[in-house]
Amino acid sequence: MRRPIVAGNWKMHGTRAENERLIEGILEGYPAESHAACLVCPPFVYLQDVGRQLRDSPIQLGAQNVSAEAQGAFTGEVSAAMLKDVGCEYTLVGHSERRLLYRENDQQVARKFAAAQAKGLIPILCVGEQLAEREANHTQDVVARQLDAVLELCGVKSLGQAVVAYEPVWAIGTGRTATREQAQEVHAFIRNRIAAADARIAAETRILYGGSCKASNAAELFAMPDVDGGLIGGASLKAEEFLAIVRAF
Ligand code: PEP
Repeated sequence: MRRPIVAGNWKMHGTRAENERLIEGILEGYPAESHAACLVCPPFVYLQDVGRQLRDSPIQLGAQNVSAEAQGAFTGEVSAAMLKDVGCEYTLVGHSERRLLYRENDQQVARKFAAAQAKGLIPILCVGEQLAEREANHTQDVVARQLDAVLELCGVKSLGQAVVAYEPVWAIGTGRTATREQAQEVHAFIRNRIAAADARIAAETRILYGGSCKASNAAELFAMPDVDGGLIGGASLKAEEFLAIVRAF
């Protein structure tokens, strides 16, 4: 039984006051018994504030990125140990904005995944194709390559303590959502690829969908058999909208 997850990726948005209001709103309307687990990923500088506000709540804390290095002279980087120290339980790795805007390659992402796990963080490994890659029928090749980099460095057992997020790049922040059939097809492909190495791990791995997921389309996406939740960008910045997604399970 895979417990679904709804994760909010706040990206580079918010102020202390706005974050406080957002968390207040989410906590006020949070269902007494939520089927889905829930976490939010604020910018680094707000992790501690938000973590304090979430204390004793069912909502967990995640980071948006993590260094591949453990410690040392890496100006501007934040280590997995530091994230753990301020209360994070999860971290995104390989978000498409990191891959595309900051040129993170598959091997660097795999090292970040390993660094996160080494300190007890649960990595949420983001994979997904760009529009041109989908149009050229390369979706599966791209997703397989991104996934395989982690399997090669960390082994299939590592996915037992991780989450995968399928995020077609053409759907992120564009308002254009993958159809539930498109999402299911890639999610099933990911699960089968993991199953080729370990069927039990594959059956247990949560695979989230991300890409313009919102209150109005969450339920139909989440109804698909291999969609185990959502990684939510824009819609996680409004309490009511985010709560409606959490309640979509
Ligand atoms: C994301 O950034 O991971 C994301 C899915 O964004 P959006 O929901 O805004 O498309």
